[in-house]
Amino acid sequence: MFPDLADQLRAREQQGLRRFRQIVESPQASHVTIDGHDYLAFSSNDYLGLANHPDLIHSICEGAQHYGVGAGASHLINGHSTAHHILEETLAQFTGFPRALLFSTGYMANIGVVTALAGREDAIFADKLNHASLNDAALLSRAKFIRYSHLDLAALEQRLADSNARRKLVISDAVFSMEGDIAPIKQLIALCEKYHALLLLDDAHGFGVLGQQGRGSLFLPDSESVHSPNIVYMATLGKAAGVFGAFVAAQADVVETLIQSARSYIYTTATPPLLSHALLTSLKLIELDEWRREALLQNIAQLKNDLLSSCWKLLPSSTPIQPLLIGESHEAVRISRALRERGILVPAIRPPTVPRGKARLRISLSTTHQPHDILRLTQALNELTLDS
Ligand SMILES: *Cc1c(COP(=O)(O)O)cnc(C)c1O
Repeated sequence: MFPDLADQLRAREQQGLRRFRQIVESPQASHVTIDGHDYLAFSSNDYLGLANHPDLIHSICEGAQHYGVGAGASHLINGHSTAHHILEETLAQFTGFPRALLFSTGYMANIGVVTALAGREDAIFADKLNHASLNDAALLSRAKFIRYSHLDLAALEQRLADSNARRKLVISDAVFSMEGDIAPIKQLIALCEKYHALLLLDDAHGFGVLGQQGRGSLFLPDSESVHSPNIVYMATLGKAAGVFGAFVAAQADVVETLIQSARSYIYTTATPPLLSHALLTSLKLIELDEWRREALLQNIAQLKNDLLSSCWKLLPSSTPIQPLLIGESHEAVRISRALRERGILVPAIRPPTVPRGKARLRISLSTTHQPHDILRLTQALNELTLDS
């Protein structure tokens, strides 16, 4: 059957694009065990080191005692538990929106929001470097899909001004997942208000990490428009929050519309309530442990400083996502492998995740990295420069 599959797989291999999974035997942390070997890892989105936190493990056990394991049904049948409900109310309050709604994953949240809010007569305006889930959502919605160059607000404004679509939905990563840079949120909100558009802001990498008490990108000092009714805010709970899931926070009418018509909300089983129970603990740690964000900022500063006088070029980013631009896929893979031989994991990110010729190493930093961990990475990189 389908003999072309083997040809395609071979072609992928030859272009340095074949992907492999490695089997991780330990919990997620700055050091992980793979094949019985210890590796220093710069490859997870567990930015605050919560994925294996003892308080979360305790809350998961407590949640299991209280709620059992499976939710048993979708939210609209009878799977919506007290734990889900309290978490939604807490998330709404934490992010400053009237209501919030839990989704199973960020991928499903983006699919649900975009398809519920936009259809054939509508137009979607999207940054070209948005996450794949936002692009898939736009295609599925059948709205007119207009992509503007990365961060090009003038191009966006032109397209908004030219559009006579029924509804306009601007969608953007808040922190771009493969670049680490931050969208001009304040200006995006202003444009959306001017052209009566909604802004779907995907803060998968900002929630927990950025803004006062980790409340996300809308709480950065220069965003300050958090109360605009034009914002639909999405964030994930499997990255900095260390657990699993995602939520959307917005005006009550938007959230109610999602409950009525977001298909990836309606036609799926609710997540285990014990996850929501543990996420309440996670939110407390996010809010109270300011030292986690401070340590993370120090790690970011150290990485930049240690690579300053080397030939390695970090992309401009002030977030824990610190990409080293390499260019060719084969070369990115070669360097990633060489680091791995030295016991360090940094993933090579290749097309189609990033544009052609823009393959990179995506270094992601965590609170749990120690200064000597970062030194070990930069020293290994500097040795590699000499090798090549
Ligand atoms: C990870 C990510 C998602 C998907 O979230 P999941 O909960 O992992 O499905 C969506 N958007 C962005 C920008 C992401 O980085």
